[in-house]
Amino acid sequence: MIRIDGLQKSYGSNPVLRDINLRIPKGEVVALIGPSGSGKSTLLRCLNVLVEPNSGCIEIGGTRMVFGEGSRGIRGKDLVGFRQSTGMVFQHFNLFPHMTVIGNVMEGPVTARKMPKDKARALAMKQLEAVGLADKADAWPSSLSGGQKQRVAIARAVAMEPDVMLFDEATSALDPELVGEVLGVMQKLASEGMTMIVVTHEMAFAREVADRVIFMAGGYVVEEGPAKEVIDNPKQPQTKAFLSHFHGA
Ligand code: ADP
Ligand code: MG
Repeated sequence: MIRIDGLQKSYGSNPVLRDINLRIPKGEVVALIGPSGSGKSTLLRCLNVLVEPNSGCIEIGGTRMVFGEGSRGIRGKDLVGFRQSTGMVFQHFNLFPHMTVIGNVMEGPVTARKMPKDKARALAMKQLEAVGLADKADAWPSSLSGGQKQRVAIARAVAMEPDVMLFDEATSALDPELVGEVLGVMQKLASEGMTMIVVTHEMAFAREVADRVIFMAGGYVVEEGPAKEVIDNPKQPQTKAFLSHFHGA
């Protein structure tokens, strides 16, 4: 359901994604791991078209986008629709500070999906219940812990009913005691059949929750396979070296 073919992205003369080819079936949970600077965030941003790839194509939920020379480029309604097929959660919770928790979750459905407010409110409430924060619906983001903010950010993204959820180090900025509640929500989402691409340094989570692990380095996919296989028995020297930093974690 997600196909990525020949995806390339450079910043100036710096090639960041060199030739990415991936197939991700509906419902699969992929953990994307690799050293800092390997291109993980750039890959997620390309899927969300926050950055425009130089070439290659991306297909999500039946819509195919072709980038580079000869392609029309993507803009206007196409871009908005394509972006709505992915939900993204970043390292730093970017909730709207001037809106209540439920206001944050309703915003996308009301403005982007033109949903009537009462329907959007019901949907938002359902998503807040799913992340265990129904009681915080009328609270302001500033009154929440980091873990709660991140759970609201997940509810907000899921309320857009995306085809795939993208997580970019969603727990990296949290105090250690708050990581578990966010990973728990992500695990629940995975068990409900959401297609997910998760950039993470939480190897135990990747091993237990992901179906597949993709190891990136230097803008390439260096190794991929079933999560437990890659994490327990990496084959490539670069994967081995990277994972050796996590032993005992
Ligand atoms: P990762 O998420 O794996 O740490 P990134 O995708 O953030 O890696 O970055 C990969 C490379 O691309 C790095 O060398 C980074 O400096 C570079 N890069 C990322 N974003 C930009 C940008 N907006 N402008 C220029 N270079 C960038
Ligand atoms: Mg990154």
